[in-house]
Amino acid sequence: MSVSITDAKSAELYARALQRLPGGVNSPARAMQAIGRDPIFVERADGAELMDVDGNRYVDYVCSWGPLIHGHAHPEIVEAVVAAAHRGTTYGAPTAGEVELAEEVSRRMPSVEMLRMTSSGTEATMSAIRLARAATGRTKLLKFAGAYHGHVDGLLAQAGSGLATAGIPASPGVPESATQETVIVGWNDGEAVAKAFAEHAFAAVLAEPYPANMGLVPPVEGFLDLLRHQADENGALLIFDEVISGFRVAAGGAQEREGVMPDLTVMGKVIGGGLPAAAYGGARSLMERIAPAGDVYQAGTLSGNPLAVAAGLTTLRLLDDAAYRRLSATTEALAGGLRDAGASAGVPVSVTSVPGLLTVFFAETAPRDYATAQACDHAAYAAWCRALLARGVYPPASQYEAWFPSLAHTSEHLDRTLDAVNAAFAEVV
Ligand code: PMP
Repeated sequence: MSVSITDAKSAELYARALQRLPGGVNSPARAMQAIGRDPIFVERADGAELMDVDGNRYVDYVCSWGPLIHGHAHPEIVEAVVAAAHRGTTYGAPTAGEVELAEEVSRRMPSVEMLRMTSSGTEATMSAIRLARAATGRTKLLKFAGAYHGHVDGLLAQAGSGLATAGIPASPGVPESATQETVIVGWNDGEAVAKAFAEHAFAAVLAEPYPANMGLVPPVEGFLDLLRHQADENGALLIFDEVISGFRVAAGGAQEREGVMPDLTVMGKVIGGGLPAAAYGGARSLMERIAPAGDVYQAGTLSGNPLAVAAGLTTLRLLDDAAYRRLSATTEALAGGLRDAGASAGVPVSVTSVPGLLTVFFAETAPRDYATAQACDHAAYAAWCRALLARGVYPPASQYEAWFPSLAHTSEHLDRTLDAVNAAFAEVV
């Protein structure tokens, strides 16, 4: 049976928004064009649930696209932010919290001996690249098709996330000179990586160790080792973009789970606990090139902002071993339930997952790269998402984005979700 939501107030706000905000939103992934509907305006959120302006309630699997590993408005995190705000929102001078946060990250990620905070993941990747270029004296970068590293000029070619969703292969406004320095190969294609290294002297190879911006497409066995090996053999740096995977898939991110250490790590999302914060870090010898210790310039008025640091530190401190075990169990239960529901409805779906992340691909077999992710049945995914929304489940509105189960998702949320999932599959067959 087809059902739909009441969305008169969202529709009214969207009409106004379209007059003042391009596409009615402040970031493209929020528009729901890819699933053939208008965006839903949020009133408030609590734990794993989102309430919209029309009074609809959803189990939220977007969770702000990653930062909210403890769910919305976690009391201890809110309290830490409020307490920090009472002490002043920003000083433009260092604080104890920044030192504590850097120490906490180093404990979790031994490859990050030092870090520099920024306000967004985009700035962090941009700065990590600058450092890699300064350290190697080279300019060329190797990246993977379907990977997203923020809206840095040179990295917008064949990027995932919102560009993939909108079908934008390369953004107008990016000078050719910027993308000329970027070589793109297919994810999980070891031969293409080796060939690219044979042809170019790279400053760095940049990878999401668990790519989650073409949907979640984990590395095949040995692929991250191959990247490490090729970088070492050829005098390039290995940069892991752990903006999504960092502190989510394990205490020390994908590098801990996979046992492959990068030279530089880019962090975001969870590190800011829902406030704007990101960072890049690595070996002391590299990081000491950053000003004012060294000559590579990078700065930010709100970098290491005390509210963001309070939210990030509290978020990390709440992430103990038990929390990771629980997030892993929740993700597995959800992934299993989604697989079973697809199978019993006779819908060809494949579900990829790592702790805290999953994607439901409308395809017989799980994609192994961007080309196979593009070949999924996007129209079926869109119809299924609309059916889920109508039943109180808020999925990422694009086949190219991951689901973000959180520690606030209980077995009751999962039961509700799987009821909706079964009904939604029945609607799309
Ligand atoms: N890297 C990855 C892997 C991301 O997923 C994102 C954002 N989704 C970014 C970088 C950019 O981060 P921000 O949106 O904070 O600029």
